[in-house]
Parts: sequence; C-alpha cells; structure tokens
Amino acid sequence: MKKSLRTYLKHTSKDFYNRSVNPPIVRASTIIFKTMKDLRELQKKKLKNPRGGHYEYGRQGTSTVYELEKILTNLEECYHVFLTSSGFGSVFLAIFSILRPGDEILVSDPVYSPTRALTQDFLKEFQIKTIFYDPRNLNSINKNITKKTKMIYVENPGSNTFEFQDLKKIISIAKRKKIITAMDNTWATPYFFKPIKLGFDMSIVSATKYYSGHSDVMGGSLAVNKKVFKNVLKTQNMTGLRLSPDDAYLIMRGLRTLDVRLDTHQKNANLIAHFLAKYKKIKVLYPYIKSSKSYKMWKKYYHGSTGLMGLKIKAKKKSMVDKFVNSLNFFGHGYSWGGFESLAMHQEIREQGDRKFFNLDKNNYLVRLHIGLEDPNDLIKDLKKSLKHIK
Ligand SMILES: *Cc1c(COP(=O)(O)O)cnc(C)c1O
Repeated sequence: MKKSLRTYLKHTSKDFYNRSVNPPIVRASTIIFKTMKDLRELQKKKLKNPRGGHYEYGRQGTSTVYELEKILTNLEECYHVFLTSSGFGSVFLAIFSILRPGDEILVSDPVYSPTRALTQDFLKEFQIKTIFYDPRNLNSINKNITKKTKMIYVENPGSNTFEFQDLKKIISIAKRKKIITAMDNTWATPYFFKPIKLGFDMSIVSATKYYSGHSDVMGGSLAVNKKVFKNVLKTQNMTGLRLSPDDAYLIMRGLRTLDVRLDTHQKNANLIAHFLAKYKKIKVLYPYIKSSKSYKMWKKYYHGSTGLMGLKIKAKKKSMVDKFVNSLNFFGHGYSWGGFESLAMHQEIREQGDRKFFNLDKNNYLVRLHIGLEDPNDLIKDLKKSLKHIK
C-alpha cells in the first residue's frame, strides 16, 4: 500500500525473524560460508549486482548497515546511498571518487570549513586545483570553468552565512559541460529537499546532525545517481570508509522521528527569527523575509527550513558578542548542531572563507544559533535577557 514518508519512517525495518519492531544490530567481521562453492557464487553475484547488499565481509556491511542504506535510498529517491563513518568521510568520498591529478574543482565559497581545508589545501598536494565561486553570482561558475574542470561542489545554504543559490542553474551549466555535481545537503536533509531528484549526481548529508538527532553518534551518507555509482563504489572499497552497525542502528532510531523533530525545529526557528528581526543591530540569516533573494531561492527548491541560522550582529566591541553568547542559559557552545538541543557559537572571521562583502571587520560579528526542541518561549526569554549585552 502506498504510504507517506511520515508513515514509512514508522513502519519500515521491522524484524519479522525476531518479531521485534526494530532490526537487530548485527556485528560481524567474518561471514561464514558453508562451502567454498557458496563463497564463489556470492562473488559472482556481487559482480553482477554490486548494489545488492551481499554478506561477504564485515567491511562491506552487515544487515544493519544495509537496512539503513535502504531507508536512506528511499528517502533520497536516488540510485544508491553509501554510508561512511562521519559526514566529512562522505565529503572526502565524494571528492576522491571523481578527482584525479591535473583536474580542477569549483567549490562554493562559503563551504563548511573542513571542506574548505580539504579542497583549498589538501587537494593541492595531489595536483588538483580548487577555485571558489561566489554563491551570489553564478556567472563566477561560468567564468572559471576550464577543460580541466571535473566537479562543481555546492553547499546550500552556505555555512554560517546562509546564501541560497539557484540550484537548477548550476546543474544546467554543469550538464552542458559534462561536469559532475555534488551538493552538501546537511542543513535541509532530503526531508525538505532532494538534490538527486533535482539533477545533482551526488548528495552528502552528515548523519551526525538531524538524521541521528540526539548528539550521540557520528555518521555520513553519500547519495548517488547511476552515473557515478561505480566510481564511488570503487573508491569506498579502496578507502575502507564504512559506518559501523551500532552507529547505523542509532541513526535508524533517530530517523523514526526525523519528521516530528524537523517540523518542530522549523517552527521554533521561525518564531525566533521573527523575534530577533525586531533588533536593529541584528541581521537574521534565515529564509523568512519574503522579499529577500535568499527566501525566493529557498522557496523555489525547499519544502521547509531547519533549526540552524546565522546572526550578523553590529556591536561596539567583540567582548559584547562573547558576553551575549556566554550568558545564554539554554544554548550550549559546541560544534555539532542537529541534535535536540540549542547551541550558540561566535564564529571567528578566519572560518568565513573569502567573504569580504560581509564586512566582518567593521564591528560586525557572526553568531550561529541552532534552535533546538525546547519550549521556544524559554529560548526567546533567554535571548532577550542576554541581548542586553549588545550595545
Ligand atoms: C557537520 C557537517 C559536516 C561534517 O559532518 P561530521 O559528521 O561532523 O563529520 C559536513 N558538512 C556540513 C554542512 C556540516 O554541517
């Protein structure tokens, strides 16, 4: 029977063998075959159908990992999902599946800072050149494409500054020039936007964030279309990047409530964005003002928005911003958002890439908020009290 995603997430992956509501955690390195003939037959089957989820050796996965692959393939509506041990592992896998020495990659300027370090610095050691393009002006993609360009790597919205790009335009430029496209979709997850369906070749989600949702596990997914499947399969085999069955189980447990949590993150974040917008010294970086370009680009592609936003704050001194952040009671200070709890971070300029247009050195500061699942009235009261430090 046809069912909605909401129902699917509740009813999938029952274990009929043990009659439990959830699938078992199967831990294995060695898989035992009854005879050598069985082993050889499996190898043949694997060659014929490499997507099959075969039981051959623990590094390739066990039933627990394959179950999560299946759920996410349905959620992404894609050809296949590869699972890795962290979101950044999926970023690495996407890039090293495609690029070889002598190639070039175009990367959106406001990317996640470890992705920036990987492309800007580490790839250089492999004679791979990175060019950063301006997400506000997609002509900068056209201008920088050369015969060597193999990949366009998009993160949407931009980390910390939350620019929303015209994604279809990027895909059509890439297709015309036969360039592979990848997108980091950690902010929205496929619950709100499905990159492969729109035409991206690869889509990355850090499962550490909203998929797991409870700040107690790390994992990453890389969704792909048929075109890049074989490249990624080979590279995953070469790198040994793999999610463990225990972590796969926890991520599946998180996914049961992905819809409920994201709906509430969205509701709370919208209330808080509107509350903060009343402050003259704050520019809220979140798609909620209907007349803004970001809003239009967000609305064009997304079904919803999540709990992460940026605040550009004008203050006389940096210490005021620190005081604001430090005096919050219900916001922790730490990196990995996407859990049930609220977070606040003052982002240092060095983490911002090339965004000179942001004027961050002229008494402007960037704070990142993750709006959690607490009572939004408590969060608003907390923010109101602490914003007294901004003068
Ligand atoms: C957190 C994050 C990652 C990396 O994920 P980890 O699971 O922490 O390795 C990649 N991209 C974005 C946009 C992120 O926010």
